[in-house]
Formats: sequence, structure tokens, C-alpha cells
Amino acid sequence: MDELPVLNQNKKWKLSYAAVSSQFKAACIRYNFCAEQILPHDSYLINLGHPEKEALQKSRDAFTDEMFRCQQLGLTLLNFHPGSHLHKINEHDSLLRVAESINIGLSQISSVKAVIENTAGQGTNLGYSFEQLATIIEHVDNKKRVGICLDTCHAFASGYDLRTITDCENTFNTFAGIVGFEYLSAMHINDCKIPFASRVDRHASLGAGEIGWTCFQYIMQDPRFDNIPLILETTDPNIWAEEIKQLKEWAQ
Ligand SMILES: [Zn+2]
Repeated sequence: MDELPVLNQNKKWKLSYAAVSSQFKAACIRYNFCAEQILPHDSYLINLGHPEKEALQKSRDAFTDEMFRCQQLGLTLLNFHPGSHLHKINEHDSLLRVAESINIGLSQISSVKAVIENTAGQGTNLGYSFEQLATIIEHVDNKKRVGICLDTCHAFASGYDLRTITDCENTFNTFAGIVGFEYLSAMHINDCKIPFASRVDRHASLGAGEIGWTCFQYIMQDPRFDNIPLILETTDPNIWAEEIKQLKEWAQ
């Protein structure tokens, strides 16, 4: 596909985008990042399970546009929250719309994997249970081009405990049974500011929230999490270097 599929079709934008794209690729080479290590997140305005026809179409167009931009940047993964039913349709119908939206995006863009993130289950957001993630995958036609990004804060907030090694084993074995590690394409590594199963999305620095360091040591040392991007989404930029250093020490 040579043309931008839906949005941003004006020429001026395309020219400036070409410059941004080549700068991005040069920066990846300079800082030694390959595409498989990079996990962009789509716009939070996109709702692939939207109950209303027109808004759903806009979300699908915007999602395909995001996938196209990933492709232009040479990236292979696009992370997104599944969507929200907004109390207007039931959860299952909204999940089916999410799957259909992914099918539409994948049919138009040839080289990017759709990576669904689990959510905290705040409001009417879907994707807060492993069963819901599995339902979406079940209805995606091309299983090789769909994956999951597990966010530790969201998992904890939605009711999957991660505080002890036993909790981690139970939660990740449950994930293995319901979804399968073959779909795990990335992790968001975050502690959680609010109590267990609160269904509210509030990230915290590692070790400074309700989950604690044990979970992150577990992830760094379990080979099921090897060779995928582990993205830190914690709240204090001043200690990112320390957090990354500690995680890397455990990985050795
Ligand atoms: Zn996240």
C-alpha cells in the first residue's frame, strides 16, 4: 500500500511525515533499537468496540491510519486498549466489534501485529479479563498477527494478584490456560497506586505501589517473558534509570 488509507491524505503532511519517518529510523540506528523492541500506543480516543455506527467507523479509520504509520516507520507492533461498550450494547457484542475492527485493520496493512492491552476495567472498558482477551483473539481471522500486551498495574487492578511468587504463578498460569503465552507480545511494567481489584487505572513507580518488587523480579527471571518488549510506564521520570538498572540486574 503506497497511499495513506483514510486520514491525513494531504500532500504537505505526507512530505513532512517522510522527514519524520527518516529521522525516526536514523535515531533507532543511532541508539541501537530494532523494530521488535518498540511498542507504540495508539490514540486513547479510538474505541474499536464502539456501540454506534458512525463513531465505530471513525475509530476503525483512525486505527488503520495508526497501523499504516507504524508500517511507514518500519515498526511491527501496535498496542491499543480494546474498547468500551458505553452501556449501549452488551460486553460480548462490543468484543465482537473489537475483533472485527482488528480484522479490518489487518486486511489493509500487511506488516503490523495488533497488540491488545489488558485493562483495569475502569468504567465500561473491556479487556479486563483473560477470557475477554481470548474472545477477541478467537474472532480475529489471522491469529499470527494478533497479540497481547499484559500491563501489570491493569492486571492487578482488575483482580489478578501479583504480590507474591505464588500469586504471580497463579496469575500467569491462568493467562497461559485461557489465552496462551504464544500470544504474549509485550508487557507494561508498572506498580499500582490503588488497592487490589479496585478496577481503577493508577500507575506507580516500581516497589512504590501495592504490587511490590517481587512481581518484577519474577518477570525478569521467567523465560516466558524473554524476547518481547518490556515497557516501563511508571510515574517518576527521575528514577526511570534506577528502575531499569534494577530490572536488568535481575535479568542477568
Ligand atoms: Zn499500559
